[in-house]
Amino acid sequence: MNISHPNELKTDVQISVVVPIYNEEANLNYLFDRLSQNLDKMGLTYEIICVNDGSRDRSLVELIRHHQQNPAIKIINFSRNFGKEIALTAGIDYARGKAVVPIDADLQDPPELIQDMVDLWKQGYDVVYAKRRARQGETWFKQFTANNFYRIIGRMSKVPIPRDTGDFRLMDRKVVEALKKIPERNRFMKGLFAWVGFEQVAIEYDRDPRYAGTTKWNYWKLWNFALDGIASFSSLPLKVWSYLGLTISLLSLIYAVFLIVRTLISGIDVPGYASLMVAVLFLGGIQLISLGAIGEYLGRVYEEVKERPLYLVRDTYGL
Ligand code: UDP
Ligand code: MG
Repeated sequence: MNISHPNELKTDVQISVVVPIYNEEANLNYLFDRLSQNLDKMGLTYEIICVNDGSRDRSLVELIRHHQQNPAIKIINFSRNFGKEIALTAGIDYARGKAVVPIDADLQDPPELIQDMVDLWKQGYDVVYAKRRARQGETWFKQFTANNFYRIIGRMSKVPIPRDTGDFRLMDRKVVEALKKIPERNRFMKGLFAWVGFEQVAIEYDRDPRYAGTTKWNYWKLWNFALDGIASFSSLPLKVWSYLGLTISLLSLIYAVFLIVRTLISGIDVPGYASLMVAVLFLGGIQLISLGAIGEYLGRVYEEVKERPLYLVRDTYGL
């Protein structure tokens, strides 16, 4: 009897490179040049899966032109912008290679590194992730917030999420199949990549500045991204309130006893406006914060139960 294992996908493609693309027209020529240079050198069969995430510039036209010149370049064209995490998910879903390498279109992730990743993969590692040594072209504020984010989520999450690591990595087919089993809509890829486990190894690199165009991230988006990460990988913000509430109740009980005793001994003393206000405002604030925390999770639960499809594909080229 021949039971084919899902991991042993019948494929002749060895490496699938997945590129999420949102308004990257100015980067595409250089990207494909450098990618195919490096991939050709390795002598492996490959495909480059480009996910056009609702670009508003000429990215799609450019992509189609490249696809016609080189059929290894394949395109998934989304019906609208779904965000980078979802674009990566779609690319990974469609990838047929024995290993999958997500990479940014702006050449901040040097394609030269794929060679080193493949070498380690052939030595038996399932995941080879690229860890940033230096963050060039980033302000101290971005570095400061990024550092703190990694520190906080490192404390809160049960699975260790490697710091200074983006989505640039090589994953074996086993890992890809594991990732595909994750149905979540809030896709914090860095966390999910860590969550699946397997034999992982890091290689260090210096992240280059963006080749052309501008980043799609601003601080508001980054803040929400950080919240997504924390809410997907920790329920501490939900649980902490019961402990805080318990502590405050105990303290107020002690204070109440003190007040009663004092009233019994020295009679009623009306002035007390300041302490009353402080207590009321402080507790009101805490209650709002805790409600907000619950809201963060409830909103995400609502997203999940709606079970909308993760993404909608308008058309594909070469797939
Ligand atoms: N990207 C995407 N959809 C989006 C935003 C970004 O597919 O809604 C892609 C973008 O084209 C690039 C990658 O995600 O290939 C990383 O984006 P960016 O360089 O803006 O992020 P940064 O490097 O600043 O974190
Ligand atoms: Mg970038």
